[in-house]
Amino acid sequence: MISGTPCSWIGAACAILLSAVPSLGGVPNGDWTTTDPAPNTLNFWGHAACYLDIEGTGIVTDPVFAPWLGHLFPRIAPAPEPSAYDQAQIVLISHAHRDHLHPATLATFSPATVILCPMPSVPHLTEVAARVQGLVPGERWVFPGGTIIAVPAHHPGGRNSLAAQADGGALGYVIATRERTIYYTGDTEYFPGFRAVAAKYAPDLVLLNLNAHLNATGAARAIQDLGSPPAVLMHHGAYATLNDLRWPRWRTDFAQAGTIHFDLAVGESRPLAQLSAPRAVRTVAN
Ligand SMILES: [Zn+2]
Ligand SMILES: [Zn+2]
Repeated sequence: MISGTPCSWIGAACAILLSAVPSLGGVPNGDWTTTDPAPNTLNFWGHAACYLDIEGTGIVTDPVFAPWLGHLFPRIAPAPEPSAYDQAQIVLISHAHRDHLHPATLATFSPATVILCPMPSVPHLTEVAARVQGLVPGERWVFPGGTIIAVPAHHPGGRNSLAAQADGGALGYVIATRERTIYYTGDTEYFPGFRAVAAKYAPDLVLLNLNAHLNATGAARAIQDLGSPPAVLMHHGAYATLNDLRWPRWRTDFAQAGTIHFDLAVGESRPLAQLSAPRAVRTVAN
């Protein structure tokens, strides 16, 4: 029996419809919900959350592991337990929307973790044990395996804001390591910032939030602007949202652009070396 508010019925209906959609990703890796990710891997944990292990440093993007998203949409994939991320050292928050910043999830991270976020996100993180560091575009955070640089996203920064701007209220992140440069777009519309990231950082791998803001057409243009690096497609799979119903179509349209991309199942893990060749052996056309 379905109970709850009328709004939650929408989520339940989405869940039923999504259960009829064939899985687009691969196969989750073992008991990924409780065990530490393997070294030098990308682990997709649903929606905009992934865990990157870079030479032993755990970096998590936009973790939201709640059973419901904003009391509206149910989680339809398993979520990791704290034991899977208790060794994470850095969390990257792209902006304050509820599908990216969930204080209760962030409260489960170790006090040894540092949360990097745009400035409008800082007031929503007063209850977490982790250290919170607000960043503006251009600011950097150095970790043992490399450097994280905050870059603009063209998206609202406020919790409930709908006014998209590239004013630093919402961020993307460039993770530059010895072997490769990974760009997490955050949520963003298509904007000139992609060309700026390409010119300055030349990413080898893009973690791309494909959604209503950056749909197949915009995403294909963005990847072209970035120099056509491989892309891991994110912003799907964890919750039964209305946009998750549209996501398979966006993915199919994006695939027709011919870009190299990876579509991982929630819980699936890939060695970083399988997603992008280390820079030392990669031919870069300049
Ligand atoms: Zn958003
Ligand atoms: Zn989002």
